[in-house]
Amino acid sequence: MKGFLSGIGEFGSIDHIKSMCGSPGRGVVGIGDDAAVINVSPGMTTLVTTDMLVEGVHFDLAYTGFEALGYKSAAVNLSDIAAMGGRPRFYLVSVALNPRMRLEELEGLYRGLESACRPFGVRLVGGDTTSSVGPMVISVTIIGEAPPGRAVKRSGARAGDDIYVTGSVGDSACGLDILKARGTGGLNKDEVWLAARHLKPSPRIKAGRLLGEGRLASSMIDISDGLSSDLGHILEQSGVGAVVYKDRLPISGDLINAAGIKKAVRYALHGGEDYELLFTARPSRRKKIAVLQEEAGVSITTIGKVTAERGAVLVDEKGVGKVLRPSGYEHFRK
Ligand code: ADP
Ligand code: MG
Repeated sequence: MKGFLSGIGEFGSIDHIKSMCGSPGRGVVGIGDDAAVINVSPGMTTLVTTDMLVEGVHFDLAYTGFEALGYKSAAVNLSDIAAMGGRPRFYLVSVALNPRMRLEELEGLYRGLESACRPFGVRLVGGDTTSSVGPMVISVTIIGEAPPGRAVKRSGARAGDDIYVTGSVGDSACGLDILKARGTGGLNKDEVWLAARHLKPSPRIKAGRLLGEGRLASSMIDISDGLSSDLGHILEQSGVGAVVYKDRLPISGDLINAAGIKKAVRYALHGGEDYELLFTARPSRRKKIAVLQEEAGVSITTIGKVTAERGAVLVDEKGVGKVLRPSGYEHFRK
């Protein structure tokens, strides 16, 4: 279909979204009524999370296509469900769109949303559509489930726990800097991969769910603001401290190639939007966590230890410790 949203209007746009995304399944009331009707699995508790992305703050349409934007808007929410150890089930999308947006662009947005959600069986059940005279805004809400008492909070870390991170860290922030400086053209292989880590992060759904259901993680968070900041949230809410070893940080070869080791470490510690999982676990869980990597499809690395003494310390290769301050991204801060 061609043309602008102004041509088909709000209801035409919603009908179009409905036909694109299909029926959310038997016994579910999705798009088209006053509220969605859903059921989580018997005996499960419900998890709900929402995240908003604003043009000019979270994304720039100059180097983010609509499909990539849709994908990412869903992925950041899926990651939050993963960080609770849950299983995502349904999603809703609220958008404020420029009437001059093209129908193909709206299609691209929902293609991206669906490409993030469908592989995990997560189905669209509703949303809201308004026009915007300023920036485009997209807000995604995901409803998920977890066995009662198994959702993993930020507050469960105890002194003596190991600290783990999935995948590698710092890639996304470096990828963003590359995109900002040079756009998507003329990038080498490492840079293309780093940019993709920014534009198309992989929510660690399976790892999160296995860590939650198996009662393996004592606390968990996803890395959205940066390792130093997100670790800070766990420590704060758990009332503990941490020692992190610099030479254990999982840093990709691509990041080292693109940024050099010194900057790579800075990206790894403070760069946001990796959407990897940062979690703690009792030492007795080590074996089970090592085994879980294969089923989860992602590497898991121990980067340090939880301490009774508050605050975070970064220990370098020579064994010298320095205070690790939360220095990731924070809105309203300059
Ligand atoms: P109401 O006026 O009762 O809020 P709406 O006209 O806003 O109804 O929405 C009609 C239906 O379309 C609802 O089921 C709503 O959840 C769905 N919907 C609206 N906008 C979107 C969207 N952007 N994406 C998905 N579903 C949407
Ligand atoms: Mg509405």
